[in-house]
Amino acid sequence: MLLRVIALAISMFITTITWAAGGVVQSPTGVAPDRYVYYPGTEAIAEGEIRLIACGTGLPAARRDQAATCWLAELGNGDKFFFDIGTGSMANVAALMIPYDFLDKVFLTHLHTDHWGDLTTLWAGGWTAGRTKPLRVWGPAGQTPEMGTAYAIDHFVKAFNWDAQTRNFVLSAEPGKISVTEFDYKAVNAVVYEENGVTIRSIPAIHAGDGPVSFIMEYAGLKIVIGGDTFPNKWYIKYATGADIAIHETFLTPTDLVRFYGQSPAQAIGVGTQIHTSPPAFGKVMSTIKPRHAIGYHFFNEQGTHDDIMAGVRSTYSGPLSLAVDDMVWNITKDRIVERMIVSPDQAWGVNGPNKPPAPPTPGSVPDPISDFIKAGRWMPAEEAQAQMVNEFKKNNNLK
Ligand SMILES: [Zn+2]
Ligand SMILES: [Zn+2]
Repeated sequence: MLLRVIALAISMFITTITWAAGGVVQSPTGVAPDRYVYYPGTEAIAEGEIRLIACGTGLPAARRDQAATCWLAELGNGDKFFFDIGTGSMANVAALMIPYDFLDKVFLTHLHTDHWGDLTTLWAGGWTAGRTKPLRVWGPAGQTPEMGTAYAIDHFVKAFNWDAQTRNFVLSAEPGKISVTEFDYKAVNAVVYEENGVTIRSIPAIHAGDGPVSFIMEYAGLKIVIGGDTFPNKWYIKYATGADIAIHETFLTPTDLVRFYGQSPAQAIGVGTQIHTSPPAFGKVMSTIKPRHAIGYHFFNEQGTHDDIMAGVRSTYSGPLSLAVDDMVWNITKDRIVERMIVSPDQAWGVNGPNKPPAPPTPGSVPDPISDFIKAGRWMPAEEAQAQMVNEFKKNNNLK
């Protein structure tokens, strides 16, 4: 009886702790502290701290709940790095309300669209919303020049020539430029970036074709490994060992690829266990390298898939783990790793940074992209209809 009373007391105590884990609200006019929530733009990043955000965790096929792969690392030294910028991810990034001028560095693990499809949106959207300088992109070479990142960016700019030429007429061309640094995908633990106390290294990955890599970022004694798509590989095992955060893909099980993705069993077993990393294989990687915290991603994370994947991972790994969804955030220091969810507005606008955009081109210096033929088609009652609004605006802003 006494034992049962003690057990009940203990269970009530534990329950109380669980309920109160967000902190106590001290008064009817007080705040609710520590509710597992991060509100973007409200917290400074300390020197030596990293804020890591999952801006995309999904797949090439679109879904509103999960954009394709995108990680944003915000560092206490002021640097911000994208690791991949997959299709749809910029909507999550925009909701962070970070001035575009601070979002100019992009590292690509490989050139599948689910890892760089929203470079379009960062490039053009950031250009119109306050970025004052060119984008900088780092990515792997391929087996031939046409399979490399430099080729991809060169042809990206060509594909969007109409977009660039029409913007160049009204905006400075400078923020519309992209500089690219291509590096050898076979280089093992080679430095691809070293500035301002941050080192980023590259290791090869095994995925779909030659070229894919993973990245290892070191800052202030912290090591964050950003795994791109890969079958488990010896380089990750060697160089991700002892990481503070080890991100690695963990893919849908073959059963779920058949059930939800409509793949044939033959295709599912190949995609799910050879081109990507299955949940038990992910767990084996993590129990071998023993990171402070493991993050699995790259699957549609929902009621129907989560338990299968968790069970697979837990069959081989029992350590600290997140199965990421979009808008998860981790604050990482030497002392602690805190995971929360982001609460952000669906209707965010771009926020200006301290730098003024460079001046637009002087009239006549850039060819007018609209011909006289097209201009002659302007329907003038529209001008009459807006004349009063235009005149008032000009007067209020001292425009001629
Ligand atoms: Zn891929
Ligand atoms: Zn992928």
